[in-house]
Amino acid sequence: MNNQNGQNHRIQSGGKYTNTGCGPTLQPIDIGHPEYIGLVDPDAAFWSLVKKDKLGYALTGEAFMDQYRRKRTEFLSEMDTLRFGLKPSAVYFNPTDRCNLNCGYCYIPASLRKSGSHMTEGNLLNALETLQAYFKRIHPDEVIPQVIFHGAEPMLNREAVFAGIERFKDDFIFGVQTNSTLLDESAIAFLASHNVSIGLSLDGVPGGPGDHTRKTWAGEGISDNVIAALERLKGYDHYSVICTVTTHNMLHLSEFVTFLHGMEVPVCMLNSVRCTLPGGRSMKPTDQELAKHYLAALDRTVELYEWTGRKLIVANFANILLSIMAPAARRLMCDISPCGGGRCFFAISAQGDIFPCSEFIGLPEFCGGNLFDGELDAAIESSAFRMVTRRMVEDIEPCRHCAVRHFCGSPCPAEAHTMNGGMTHTGAFCELYEEQARYALRQIADGKEDVYLWDGWDAETTTTFSLFNS
Ligand code: SF4
Ligand code: SF4
Repeated sequence: MNNQNGQNHRIQSGGKYTNTGCGPTLQPIDIGHPEYIGLVDPDAAFWSLVKKDKLGYALTGEAFMDQYRRKRTEFLSEMDTLRFGLKPSAVYFNPTDRCNLNCGYCYIPASLRKSGSHMTEGNLLNALETLQAYFKRIHPDEVIPQVIFHGAEPMLNREAVFAGIERFKDDFIFGVQTNSTLLDESAIAFLASHNVSIGLSLDGVPGGPGDHTRKTWAGEGISDNVIAALERLKGYDHYSVICTVTTHNMLHLSEFVTFLHGMEVPVCMLNSVRCTLPGGRSMKPTDQELAKHYLAALDRTVELYEWTGRKLIVANFANILLSIMAPAARRLMCDISPCGGGRCFFAISAQGDIFPCSEFIGLPEFCGGNLFDGELDAAIESSAFRMVTRRMVEDIEPCRHCAVRHFCGSPCPAEAHTMNGGMTHTGAFCELYEEQARYALRQIADGKEDVYLWDGWDAETTTTFSLFNS
């Protein structure tokens, strides 16, 4: 509102002081460290570690505040681009509905996995052609999009998948996420020769509790098959193991990372079970128990590194560290809000239906259209996608007050929708993410962050602000 002299009377404060008026919000957070406390501007995802007895100085000292004010605009702009300025550059592509396994937490309905259909080779090639044209239209030439063949079990439709990889090898970076039961020598030879990244699912050591969750339709565990595939993959750079953490295996996570490290696995993910469907919910651990065992497993990876000099990267945790240290360098998009579903990537079902993320396959209200009906552009803009792409932490209680909201992102919208009553609710876990962010800041305070990150992770990042020991 302007007065007769054209002056704006709405803005009352010059933003001079921290935490009042228009001044920046800097929230002190207890990170469980003996010496340091975290100081976070949640909107800008700015953070600093301050000695506990210097907190007053940091909040009132001119040197710190002047430097921070000058940089805040840059931080806000980086966060804005990350949250709202990206275009899709990856597709999770389901070449079949079917799966030869019946894992208890799968997000694809059992009837589809049992008697659904394969995408024909002709349709798969047409789909990749459509996707290639779409990405060429929205990105400059130097951007090479990713296509990840995903589950159900993509290797059940191996001929079509391999034909797609062969035909479009120069147009996409390919990946395959597989239960590895069909990953024989010839499959690995083909995938390795085409530089395809391979993700294998495994929930525990052979014969252990992971065999309760990942099993055949007859109820038999399959970890021996995965171990055989891991043996074959030794020495290949582009593979990883994805572990879904449930009540069945969480007590054994430290033992499991020791096993993976012994198998020379370079990268794993320890993902808390998604609770979108009742199967996942039935094995959901409490946040407190899960955090305890998950953080102990992370500690174990540090011990293993100290003993052997070889890292086992836990990619989902590495991503949290990156979200703090170099937000734009993060690789996974569950822990930013809106999440990556529908805006950084999308998913295609075996029928060509387009969903914001694989997690929504099985929830028809989130289908934005069909690729074979020429509806890709419309799907990205559809109200089904907007439900996901417009879900923001600012609209969610208690996230909008939470200092770590941009290191967490309040995942997952699919869980929020099916489990907790809608997009303005949290997903299945909260305290787990809180503990993870606090742990990450503790590791940074102790100078251990490099142990959790890929060698050379900072080669393409620049330090825009550093005031560690204020
Ligand atoms: S938070 Fe959920 S919907 Fe979003 S990208 Fe992650 S799994 Fe997909
Ligand atoms: S889910 Fe919990 S930790 Fe994550 S942003 Fe929301 S309140 Fe914070």
